[in-house]
Amino acid sequence: MPHTSDIIVIGGGIAGLSAAAELSRDASVMVLEAEEQIGFHSSGRSATMVHYALGDRLVRALTLASRAFFESPPDGFSEIPLGRRMPVLVHAREDEREALDALECDIIAFADLERLDARGVHELCPLLRDDAVHGIADRDGIRLDPHALLQGYLRMLRHAGDELVTAARVASVERRCGVWTVTVEGGASYSAPILVNAAGAWADKVASMAGAAPIGLQPLRRTIITFDAPPGTNLEDLPFAKTVGDQLYFASESGRLFASPMDEVPTEACDAQAEELEVALAAYRVEERTTIKVDRIHSRWAGLRTFTPDRNPAVGFAPDSDGFFWLAGQGGFGLQTSPAMARIAASLILHTVWPMKDLVARDLSPGRFLGQAA
Ligand SMILES: Cc1cc2nc3c(=O)[nH]c(=O)nc-3n(C[C@H](O)[C@H](O)[C@H](O)COP(=O)(O)OP(=O)(O)OC[C@H]3O[C@@H](n4cnc5c(N)ncnc54)[C@H](O)[C@@H]3O)c2cc1C
Repeated sequence: MPHTSDIIVIGGGIAGLSAAAELSRDASVMVLEAEEQIGFHSSGRSATMVHYALGDRLVRALTLASRAFFESPPDGFSEIPLGRRMPVLVHAREDEREALDALECDIIAFADLERLDARGVHELCPLLRDDAVHGIADRDGIRLDPHALLQGYLRMLRHAGDELVTAARVASVERRCGVWTVTVEGGASYSAPILVNAAGAWADKVASMAGAAPIGLQPLRRTIITFDAPPGTNLEDLPFAKTVGDQLYFASESGRLFASPMDEVPTEACDAQAEELEVALAAYRVEERTTIKVDRIHSRWAGLRTFTPDRNPAVGFAPDSDGFFWLAGQGGFGLQTSPAMARIAASLILHTVWPMKDLVARDLSPGRFLGQAA
């Protein structure tokens, strides 16, 4: 006999675990994760920032709505802080000034921004080259601890008496008489009337398994390198420093620096690996925009940022498949939006009060990719 619950969640990344934890307040939930550990794919490979310099109004609203959770999570959620303050500096050369002005106007409603001249930019980030002459700074950026966040949601789930099964790769999905039955490699099966698809880069594949139309998700690979900071660098005070265009970001990382060339290489869903070309590009861009010489790359990794066709997430019931719920397309903002997205998912599934002031369910509906209304 299959194990039964009210809801099955496929995916033990931040999307699946946060939604499962929210849902477990009022329903019985089973989370199935293919890998042996949670957060093995995108959720464990990110730059872990909470900031407003990416996405559009919708992503910024989801980020703003998530901040309070990171700053004061529910009692017992985590024994350690979910993150630490790290200023965010977006910097520009003279020829990039217009782009910085435009970004400032987009962000100003979401963060207390300081406009910086060349001196202010270099006071905040002495590692930048002299041609960084304009900047906007958000002193309230947060660098998250993804482990604390994932473990916190897992603790919340278990506290409610619900379960996560790892090494449980879903191999088949079928619906009969209003109930989904999900079978994992190895043969165990699980059933529930509602199936949440939080399978990250694999979410279109999971939809196909369930007979729902894919929504056109595209995983894009992004690379990170770590390397030594110049002797004497005060790592504690360094900001997360980002070019106004998508060329480079860097920040401190466990006694060193990390940087990404902000690459977006279209890829199949897979265990992403850093490729030589993007690793070299990362080092090149660090040397192009900062005074740092990257003598030795200490470590490298890559992860997938998976986008819908309009780069905003898909959260909602599939219009073409009863009881099939999409929670996908978190792109490069899945950690920083997870508390709000989890509450949205729970409200749509359990028919509870809509948790967002500035967004409506239609904004997130997966139906927008299938030519159907929400
Ligand atoms: C380099 C990089 C930098 C980033 N920086 C930031 C940042 O600064 N801030 C931010 O908020 N976000 C950032 N992100 C984005 C963020 O990491 C993602 O949006 C987020 O992790 C997506 O979470 P997820 O749960 O959807 O995906 P995942 O973490 O990939 O989880 C999906 C899970 O589904 C499982 N799965 C798939 N198929 C099956 C199956 N058939 N059966 C069972 N399980 C299955 C997978 O094993 C996986 O564990 C970054 C990402 C990268 C790669």
